[in-house]
Amino acid sequence: MLDINIKGTIPKNMEDRGLHILSDNLGEIENILNQRKMPKKGLSDEKIELLLTFLSNMDTDKDPKAIRVGEREARISSEIHKKLSSNFCHGIGRSGNLVDPQPKAPGASAMYALTNKLLESFLKNLNVNVNALATPVSTGMSIALCLSALKRGFLVENVNKNVNKNKDTKIATNITTNITKKQYSKYDGANVVIYPYASHKSPIKSTSFAGMRMRFVETQLSDRDDCVEIPVEDIISATEKELKAGNNPVILSTLTFFPPRRGDDIEEISKYCLENNIPHIINGAYAIQNHKYLDKLKKALKYRVDAIVSSTDKNLMTPIGGGIIYSKNKDFLREVSLTYPGRASATPIVNTFVSLLSLGMDKYTQLMKEQVITKNLLDDLLIDLANKTGNTKLNVDSPIASCITTQKDPVDVSAKLYNLRITGPRGIKTTDHFGNCYMQNYKYNYVVMNASIGVKESDVNNAVDRLSKVI
Ligand SMILES: *Cc1c(COP(=O)(O)O)cnc(C)c1O
Repeated sequence: MLDINIKGTIPKNMEDRGLHILSDNLGEIENILNQRKMPKKGLSDEKIELLLTFLSNMDTDKDPKAIRVGEREARISSEIHKKLSSNFCHGIGRSGNLVDPQPKAPGASAMYALTNKLLESFLKNLNVNVNALATPVSTGMSIALCLSALKRGFLVENVNKNVNKNKDTKIATNITTNITKKQYSKYDGANVVIYPYASHKSPIKSTSFAGMRMRFVETQLSDRDDCVEIPVEDIISATEKELKAGNNPVILSTLTFFPPRRGDDIEEISKYCLENNIPHIINGAYAIQNHKYLDKLKKALKYRVDAIVSSTDKNLMTPIGGGIIYSKNKDFLREVSLTYPGRASATPIVNTFVSLLSLGMDKYTQLMKEQVITKNLLDDLLIDLANKTGNTKLNVDSPIASCITTQKDPVDVSAKLYNLRITGPRGIKTTDHFGNCYMQNYKYNYVVMNASIGVKESDVNNAVDRLSKVI
């Protein structure tokens, strides 16, 4: 198609050599298109841009012969828009379904499908075998999409017919012919979200955004360590209460959270959800970056997990604005995609695409290793600081974040850190029920700090050094 005809302009042996080099360089791009897998070694920015240029030049707004008389023709007022959208001015999706190919945008549609393939291969390399959907919205809104899909009701494959004892389950009568071979049941309109309490406003707002009611399950102080946690029995009992009242509950569990809040026992919750045909969404906002979280996800995925939601910025180092929804249940992902109202900006998808291609598996694995090392450093430094200042490093359960007590006002401590140009620490008072995720008074005033993917040892060294001056 691209005929690089330089015949006769230079000596033949040079021509051959030049075309050979070009072919090797374009080969990297061809490999991505042919294999549709996360590359082992990341691509250079130049090659990624070239690939984006090829793809975006397939969209109809680039058709030099097109006659455009629609109400939406990707007309742009400034060339800056091209840069900002990587030239995918038509966006992605077809009103009412994100993943449906957009006739005006063959290139963007292919780019999106490729991104989802790359994501699946990325997760598979991390031993998580799932279907994946990149979303053009962040974690909270992605959770809202999942809840909204559950609210509409959807068809689920009956993984285990024997345990399908929930009286609310009806065998769907209007299933389409291509899926009649498997047995499907219909989960009718989820209307209440069982939420083991984690004090993040996004999931709470996701629920109200989806037009559903939320039933909180309260945290308790652990008798094992300094964590606050929610016994699975309490989650089950809250769910049973809603079932008894004739409602259709869905459980929204949280895997990743600021300590002292412990991540929910997603494996046990998933078992219960499978046995009782309860939909289950996991908020794994920053779960992909650490193997402790990934192992938990893997175990839960053996049972009932309708979807896991993660952030692209927290895990893949994109600008904020994208999400990843993944699940073994491809049909459910399609339902989620169908829930999105309208067409979407291609940019958050391009961001995900670019991160996957530029990182490559090698770099990501390396970053994961560095995250673990830096988190250990953070722990060591905090233990040291605690010993020197008569404080305690809390015995909490997080592969990302650590807590240290303070005898001063912790809010004041974190404000001082902010003024010392440190972003990220949270200072929480014993009486801060929201910050503690705990309705009673927590045992300590504390400061929490994160060593999440991409963090440098110097960040942790400097942060703890400045903390030592204000704690
Ligand atoms: C970051 C985070 C969110 C919100 O994510 P957005 O991408 O801002 O919507 C929700 N829940 C948890 C546990 C988070 O860490």
